[in-house]
Amino acid sequence: MIDEVIKEINRADTILVAGHIMPDGDDVSSICSLVMGLEKYGKKVIGAIDDEIPGYLEELPILKEKIRDFDCVKNTPADLIIIVDASSPDRVGRIQELFEYKRIVVIDHHATNLNFGHVNWVDATSASTAQLVFKLNQKLGVKYDEELATINLLGVATDTGFFKYSNTNAQVFEDVSKLVSFGGNISYITNAILENKPIENVLLFKDVIENLKFKKDKKIAYTYVSLDMLKKYNILPKNTPPFVGDLRSLKGVEVAIVFNEHEKNVFHTSMRSKKYFDVSEVALHFGGGGHVRAAGFSKESDNIEKLMEEVTDYIAEKMEK
Ligand code: 5GP
Ligand code: MN
Ligand code: MN
Repeated sequence: MIDEVIKEINRADTILVAGHIMPDGDDVSSICSLVMGLEKYGKKVIGAIDDEIPGYLEELPILKEKIRDFDCVKNTPADLIIIVDASSPDRVGRIQELFEYKRIVVIDHHATNLNFGHVNWVDATSASTAQLVFKLNQKLGVKYDEELATINLLGVATDTGFFKYSNTNAQVFEDVSKLVSFGGNISYITNAILENKPIENVLLFKDVIENLKFKKDKKIAYTYVSLDMLKKYNILPKNTPPFVGDLRSLKGVEVAIVFNEHEKNVFHTSMRSKKYFDVSEVALHFGGGGHVRAAGFSKESDNIEKLMEEVTDYIAEKMEK
C-alpha cells in the first residue's frame, strides 16, 4: 500500500497534509514530519488541523510553523489530501468540506479505521502513525536532519507513553534507534512534554480526585472535568490535562475513564485500559474509536452523573462476559 501512496504523491502537484481534531503528539508529529519530508522531496505542501494545538505542544515552535488552521488552507488548490492518524472522516473537522474533487490518502494505525480514502494505508501493528511517515519519507529518499528526526520522534514517544505502553514493540526501538542516529533528540522532547506541567494542572487534579468513583471491585475508575472546574484554575479546554493516565496507574484499576467537558454539555470521554479490556469496542459503541488500550468518543449530555453511569455500567457488563 505504501507504493500506492507514493504513486498518489508523484501524481500530485500541491498536497495538503491534514490531522485530527483534539490533536495529540502523534498527530502533529506525523503532519509536521510528512510536510517537511515532502518539501525535501520537492513538492508544494501545506499542513493543517481544524483545531487548536494544545499548550503542552507549544514548546515545539516548528509545529506552529508547519501546521495551519482551516481558514488558512480552505482555498489552497491542493489536488491531494493526505490524512494522518485519523480513523474516520469526522475526525478532521471542517477539512472534510475540502474532500470533493480531490484524491484522498489515509495513513493511520487505528484498527477502527473506516478506510475512507481512495488509498488507505492502515497498519494497526504500528505503535504510531509517525513511524509510518518515517517509513514513507525513507522510501522517498528524504534526507533526515536533526530537526526532522526530532519532530518525527515526538509521535513515537507520545503514542508509546515514552516507550512503555504495550504497543512498544521491536519496530519502535528500530525506528527510534535510526531517528536518534539521524540526530533526533529524545531529551528535548521529554523536557518539552513531560517536565513542563503548569502548577494549575496539579491544583485541578485535587478537585478531579474528589470526584473520583470506582466500580467492579475498583477495576473501573472514573471521574470528570467540567468547564466550571477548568475556569476555576484558568485552564482552557484545549489544555485539559490528560488525567486518565493517572487513574490507570492506580493499583488494581483495569479501565480508567475521564469525561472532559470541552464545550457546554459536550463531553470528550477518554478511556484507557491496562492489561486485557478492549476500550476501542466501547468507544465504537458510543460513536467514537481508537485503540484496544486507548480510545475515546464525544457525547452531549446535560447530566454528567447520568452519562458516567451509562458508560461505566456498559463497561461493567462487558467485563462480566
Ligand atoms: P484520547 O483519550 O487521548 O483523546 O484518545 C485516545 C485514542 O482514541 C486516540 O487514538 C484517539 O485517536 C482515539 N479517539 C479519541 N476520541 C475519539 C473520537 O471521538 N473518535 C474517534 N474515532 N477516535 C477517538
Ligand atoms: Mn492521535
Ligand atoms: Mn496515533
